[in-house]
Amino acid sequence: MLPNFLPESCLDHPALTAHFTLVNEKNISRLNEAVRDVPDFPKPGILFKDITPILASGELFRLAIDEFVSAVGGESPTKIVGIDARGFIFGAALADRLGAGFVPVRKKGKLPWETHGASYTLEYGEAHVEIHRDAILPGEKVVLIDDLLATGGTAGAALKLIQQLGGEVVCLTFLIELAFLEGRKNLDPSVRTVALLTY
Ligand code: AMP
Repeated sequence: MLPNFLPESCLDHPALTAHFTLVNEKNISRLNEAVRDVPDFPKPGILFKDITPILASGELFRLAIDEFVSAVGGESPTKIVGIDARGFIFGAALADRLGAGFVPVRKKGKLPWETHGASYTLEYGEAHVEIHRDAILPGEKVVLIDDLLATGGTAGAALKLIQQLGGEVVCLTFLIELAFLEGRKNLDPSVRTVALLTY
């Protein structure tokens, strides 16, 4: 295991780059193998990417969070915003790892206090998401996380909510991106967007 306090001048060393590339590729391929494809769920024609086998393995779950930490890079967010519901699982673990707070973006009617909301269309239906009005302070550095980017409707709406509250989204990250759906077109191109697995 390499220490995480190496000076920046060392980070370009070929041996080190090779080491990190190797570790990363191995992790990514293990996560990839664990994702279970479920055809026709929740309705015909949808190939559902089931991430519960990753959650069910202590090792793979930790490894996924390791990779999310790498994706966030040197940023120091004070809030991690997770999208209802699988974004909560990864987001809460990431928040704990980074020493940041966790904020849920929830489906309509689930948050108890004053909310700010947005409507959007998704791969299989219509939806509305909400955030507590006081969840993000103006100028706060935020990471937005979800399990999967499909059409980008959900993440695009969540991104707007955070930006409208004055938050600065420093990284938008997903475990999975369904690239053929071109969801990135619905996202702010100025926000760094990282998916660990792409299909
Ligand atoms: P979208 O707004 O189209 O990007 O949809 C993203 C949200 O829907 C995420 O919160 C995912 O959990 C869920 N989702 C959409 N399509 C799939 C899929 N094929 N497999 C698993 N989850 C999906």
